[in-house]
Amino acid sequence: MSATVVDSHRRPRCGDGLVSRRARPAGATGRWGAIRHDWQPQEIRAIHDTPLLELVFQAARVHRQHHDPKEVQVCKLISIKTGGCPEDCAYCSQSSRYETGVDAQPMLDRETVLGIAQRAKEHGVSRVCMGAAWREVRDNAQFERVLEMVQAVKAMGLEVCCTLGMLTEAQARRLEAAGLHAYNHNLDTSEDHYKRIITTRTYQDRLQTLRNVRKTSVTLCTGGILGLGETVRDRVALLQTLAALNPHPESVPINILSKVPGTPLGDQADVPFDETLRMIATARIVLPASIVRLSAGRARLSLTEQALCFMAGANSIFSSETGSMLTQAVPSPDYAADQQMLTMLGLKPREPLRAK
Ligand code: SF4
Repeated sequence: MSATVVDSHRRPRCGDGLVSRRARPAGATGRWGAIRHDWQPQEIRAIHDTPLLELVFQAARVHRQHHDPKEVQVCKLISIKTGGCPEDCAYCSQSSRYETGVDAQPMLDRETVLGIAQRAKEHGVSRVCMGAAWREVRDNAQFERVLEMVQAVKAMGLEVCCTLGMLTEAQARRLEAAGLHAYNHNLDTSEDHYKRIITTRTYQDRLQTLRNVRKTSVTLCTGGILGLGETVRDRVALLQTLAALNPHPESVPINILSKVPGTPLGDQADVPFDETLRMIATARIVLPASIVRLSAGRARLSLTEQALCFMAGANSIFSSETGSMLTQAVPSPDYAADQQMLTMLGLKPREPLRAK
């Protein structure tokens, strides 16, 4: 079957020609596959609760309408400023409020970051995300250094993303001018559940940062975390909030909680795999053109489970040279294991910046 590959950075809107061509009924499932911003909770819940293999099948159909199913984007997270964060995110190893064994470290220098990015590129990575454990971006020398890093990594031919906390419109414009491709700022969970996870900033603060980024050409990366003690209703509400953004975020990470000893969520129950798979498939159907990123927590999944996630519409992973994501507290498969997995599954890493 030939896939209809769609430029996920085109930001299609309801009513444009491309969207109306896509808005065909998907068999008995009605309008699945259309780009919509008016999803109602009961509609998303009905999708979520579809018998599991039927849900995966329908998500795979939607995936093929909007993406090349043979491609997976491999990303690399670089923690350019680790630990010492003043925020109280209840899952995070980098919060200074919890004893997690992750100490505050100075910001990485430019050459170190470029070395990591170069090795990542040599291992099939097409997108590098630089993360700093900050509450918000400050207009200081460290931000100037981030801007230089963005320019330099972009010059290597890679997509560059940053996750630096809250951001003003003016700061977003400076990142845009430096060549930033995407800004990550996760909503984490539903607005209702959010206040049980983070008290030092509000859900509306988060949405404001997303709005600030949207005033520029920088694309949006925002998603959530499974395993924060949320209900299915919270997961549905998160997807509804993401889908109400117009345009949809180009990138939607679905994380599985990596339980960090010392954090308030260090003893949470594991997320059963079928719940992860349902969330991936539901995200694929509700956000059909977005890249759905199987993110933190992937190290817990078997190859077969990951394959099911790719079938259900996940089309990006984070890989690593150190066996960890931002910190050692969050394990990640490494480049060699991921290359072997993609080859075995007949998948290929997506080229950088193909859509621009
Ligand atoms: S998730 Fe980000 S903002 Fe929250 S404590 Fe961790 S580093 Fe700070």
